[in-house]
Amino acid sequence: MPLIVLLAALLAVSLVGLMVVRSGDDPEDRSADRTALRAATQATVPTRTAPARTTPGDPAKQRAEQRAGWPVRGAAATRARVPILMYHVIGDVPAGAAYPDLWVAPDRFAAQVEALRAAGFTAITMEELWSAWHDGGRLPERPVVLSFDDGDITHAMNAAPVLLKVGWPGVLNLTVQNLGKRGLPMWGAKRLIRQGWEIGSHTVTHPDVTTLDAAGFARELAGSRKTIKQRLGVDVRFFCYPAGKSDAASRAAVAAAGYLAATTVDPGLAARADDPYLLPRVRVDPSTTPAALVRMARGG
Ligand SMILES: [Zn+2]
Repeated sequence: MPLIVLLAALLAVSLVGLMVVRSGDDPEDRSADRTALRAATQATVPTRTAPARTTPGDPAKQRAEQRAGWPVRGAAATRARVPILMYHVIGDVPAGAAYPDLWVAPDRFAAQVEALRAAGFTAITMEELWSAWHDGGRLPERPVVLSFDDGDITHAMNAAPVLLKVGWPGVLNLTVQNLGKRGLPMWGAKRLIRQGWEIGSHTVTHPDVTTLDAAGFARELAGSRKTIKQRLGVDVRFFCYPAGKSDAASRAAVAAAGYLAATTVDPGLAARADDPYLLPRVRVDPSTTPAALVRMARGG
C-alpha cells in the first residue's frame, strides 16, 4: 500500500513538473522550479505529515491552509508589533559599487533567514499583516516581513531560492522601470510571484515624491499599479516611498490613490496603532550579523 501511494505521488509530481515546463518562459527558470519541486516532494512524500506548501497544487490555497493553522488571532493579532525587514541587493558587493551599504551577501542572507527561523520567526506578506490587524486574520507566533526594494535580478537569483527552501514569501517593492533586462527580468518577476511573493509599488521612476506636483505623483501611483497588473497580473495594495521620503501631502496622495498602507525607512517595528502610511522598517545592511538581525526583529 505505501508503495502505491508513493508511486501515485511521484506520477502526480511528474505531471505537475511537465506543466511547469510548458508554462515557463525561461529554461533556467523551469529547471530551477522542477528541481525545487522534486526536492520538496522527495523530502515530504515518505513522512505523510508534510506541510501543505510542499505538495503540488494551488499555491494560494495551500497558503490559506497554512494561515488557518497560525496560532495568533483576535485581539492578540491586532496588537502584534511586526518587524518589516528592508533589503535591497542580495549579492556580493563589487569593488566600486555606488551604494555598498545596500548589498547583503547571499551567504549572509541565507544565514539571516536560518537564524530567524531558528528563533521561531515565520515570514508573512503585507497583505497577511494587514488582514491580521484589520480583518480578523491570523498570525504565526513570531511574524516577520522580508521586503526587497527596487527590483533587481539578485532578488530572483539569490533571495528567492533561499526563501523557497523554507517556504517563505518575500515582498518586492518594485520600481516599475526596473522591470526588464537591466533590473529584474520578466521571468524573474514571474518566478517570485509563482513562489508566493507579494508585489508592492515603489513608483515607476523612483523619484523623491515630495518634489513632485500632485499630478506627477498621481501618475506614479496609478501608473505603477496599472503596469504591474498588466504585465504581472497581480493587484497592488501597498506602497513604499523611494528613499523613504514622504510628507503630509504625499501620504494623503497615497491614501487617495487607494493604497492600504505604505512603508518608510524610519526604524522600528510596525504596529496597527501607527499611521498606516508611515510604517517603519528594520534596515538590513552588509554588517548586520544573523544574531543582530534576530535582536532587531525582536525589537531590540
Ligand atoms: Zn528604492
